[in-house]
Amino acid sequence: MKIKTVVQKFRGSEDFFRCPICKKPFSLEETGSFLCTNGHCFDLSAKGYVNFLSGSGGDERYGRDLFESRKTVFEEGFYAPVLEAVRAVFGEYMPAGPRAVLDAGCGEGYYARMLADTGADIYAMDNAREAILSACRESGDVRCAVADLANIPAGNGSAGAILNILSPANYGEFARVLAPGGVLIKAVPGKHYLRELRQCVAERLSHAEYSNEKIIGHMAENADIADHRSIEYTLPVSERQLRAFYRMTPLTSRIPMKEADLSRIRGITVHMEIFAAFFPGGVL
Ligand SMILES: [Zn+2]
Repeated sequence: MKIKTVVQKFRGSEDFFRCPICKKPFSLEETGSFLCTNGHCFDLSAKGYVNFLSGSGGDERYGRDLFESRKTVFEEGFYAPVLEAVRAVFGEYMPAGPRAVLDAGCGEGYYARMLADTGADIYAMDNAREAILSACRESGDVRCAVADLANIPAGNGSAGAILNILSPANYGEFARVLAPGGVLIKAVPGKHYLRELRQCVAERLSHAEYSNEKIIGHMAENADIADHRSIEYTLPVSERQLRAFYRMTPLTSRIPMKEADLSRIRGITVHMEIFAAFFPGGVL
């Protein structure tokens, strides 16, 4: 991609981003850099994203293989019902004023990409560079950034909604970045999420049963939960798709695939709990 095209895509995002080092506003230079008033400079990549984790390539624990596997299962529709549920929550709770939506921990960018047709300005951030490389490949108007989600490079009150799908939360930062009345849409795995894979490797796991109680409890301590929907379905799965699931989930990341007997699995269960939550104090 020509850098001019990338600059064009990020034009107008200066009001959303802020310098992660000194918190000052940015200007977007024609040459393809975000430059803050103190001179900190972050370059746009010709691949179509900006890297705010200066001096490092971001979190490299998650390789390309993982995000490409995720892309496979997303493209083949396994998460389409989850997307519809997220879209419904978004439609119901997105406030009328601010148009920016931040997907915090976007992975390969499925939800960010699919919400682009809502007319909102979508920003997708992840601390893994491979995730952002994967996300920005077909991202359309979505602005992708490698960023530390414990120090989000976005101004106070700059987003109307934050998506946080199967990804760790930083509630202090979410409360700061959300505009007053802004909504956090968070999805966490339900008890039966990928249960066929869990059963398959059960004796190798420290907890055979998954519980999301801690995650939900932590959210309830930090935000007011206004809505909670549960979605669960089982879809038939081919061997190739099953292998993609196996590669993409942290559940099996320490167990080589050849040590798991996947031969009897014919379907895969997706179980998610989707929340809409608000921060009563508005901007901290
Ligand atoms: Zn700065």
